[in-house]
Amino acid sequence: METKFDVIVVGAGAVGSSCAYALSKAGQKVLVVEKRDSCMGTGGATGGLLSWFTKKPGYHLALYLQSQKLFKPLEEEIGKFGLQVDGTVQVIETDMEMELVKKSMERDDIPSGYSLEILDGKQVLQLEPNINPDIPGALWIPQSGRLEVFDFVYGMVRAAKKLGCQFLTETEVIGILREGERVTGITTNRGDFYAGTVVNACGVWGNDLVKMLGYDMPIRPRRGQIVALEQRAPYVYHMITSSLYQTIKFHPELITDEAIQRIGYSFAIEQTESGTTILSGTREFAGFDRGVTTEAIGKIIAGAAKVYPCVKDMKIIRTFAGLRPYTPDGLPIVGSLGQYTGFCMACGHEGDGIALAPITAQLVTELIVNGETSLDITPLSWQRFAVS
Ligand SMILES: Cc1cc2nc3c(=O)[nH]c(=O)nc-3n(C[C@H](O)[C@H](O)[C@H](O)COP(=O)(O)OP(=O)(O)OC[C@H]3O[C@@H](n4cnc5c(N)ncnc54)[C@H](O)[C@@H]3O)c2cc1C
Repeated sequence: METKFDVIVVGAGAVGSSCAYALSKAGQKVLVVEKRDSCMGTGGATGGLLSWFTKKPGYHLALYLQSQKLFKPLEEEIGKFGLQVDGTVQVIETDMEMELVKKSMERDDIPSGYSLEILDGKQVLQLEPNINPDIPGALWIPQSGRLEVFDFVYGMVRAAKKLGCQFLTETEVIGILREGERVTGITTNRGDFYAGTVVNACGVWGNDLVKMLGYDMPIRPRRGQIVALEQRAPYVYHMITSSLYQTIKFHPELITDEAIQRIGYSFAIEQTESGTTILSGTREFAGFDRGVTTEAIGKIIAGAAKVYPCVKDMKIIRTFAGLRPYTPDGLPIVGSLGQYTGFCMACGHEGDGIALAPITAQLVTELIVNGETSLDITPLSWQRFAVS
């Protein structure tokens, strides 16, 4: 096998596969090195929510809006991945949630062309006829939606391969090769490979490569537990989220239930194109433990059954967990690391790695091919976490 490339991308999740495709499209000779296989990291245990509303006002939102624009053209290029930007129903269950939702609608950064609407129970039923008729209301977020994550990632892999990109799976990076302050390649359990740039798209394992270069970045695993239910004819028509998610994310101090606070429970309900229901999740710091707990799974199922009573009779086909690559400010780390040239970070996307994969790939490609980016990436720089 060849050993010399323009770019080596380490990691074949949503971010790495997107980078591989964008770089190959830009004419780079790319090798992807993956310790397991594509979608075997967090990309294989995730939701597919695409929503501007869950992003923090300011840079985070601006970054997402750029990314959202890229999905449709990408689907035209690489083939269908179930892109469905036809609205999200954020269920409101309590008076406190209603208050917070009303407050959140006062934000002055609602992008032009985007809107929010509070629906009463009857209006919710029109959108979601199988939802519990006692649900008092919901926030309707028309310009958001979801995609099929496996189709998205596999589509990227296929499209990159068509452009000549090579994939080396079951291959682990165990060292970084350097000449002084220039990164020149990687050492793997299958030998050494060389490139002008090495891209770190290792998600929650991103700090392993960072450490190989003598640095330490605060990328921590934040577990999310998931329940998959048996296939059924369509009964959930939009992406369903909970207002509790918004409360936990932006006002955790308002949560009084100790268990909810501890495991960061809220729910998202989505029915995939194949009919499976995906119920998620939690936001827990439990190290690299990808196990599931009876407490969390019980809460997820009970919460979903309260919103969709028909869930009570459905069979569970699988429970599993994924690890979000958390960073303290909720933004990924993209760009250089330390004094090194020839090394590019593209990890730490926490709960947004699917939504931000296209813009990350674009920025990484611009950096490598043009040496500059079309968007200011200072807020994504490694320096914000540098310990002096
Ligand atoms: C329950 C849950 C729900 C979520 N919901 C959403 C959502 O609705 N929308 C959204 O946008 N995001 C969501 N996320 C977050 C999203 O899944 C992640 O941000 C995203 O999957 C991270 O992608 P990645 O490519 O960076 O990482 P990964 O998919 O983990 O890919 C990294 C890859 O690197 C490989 N690797 C690591 N170390 C090495 C090494 N040394 N050598 C070779 N290969 C290596 C791994 O095997 C892995 O395949 C959710 C996450 C969870 C857990």
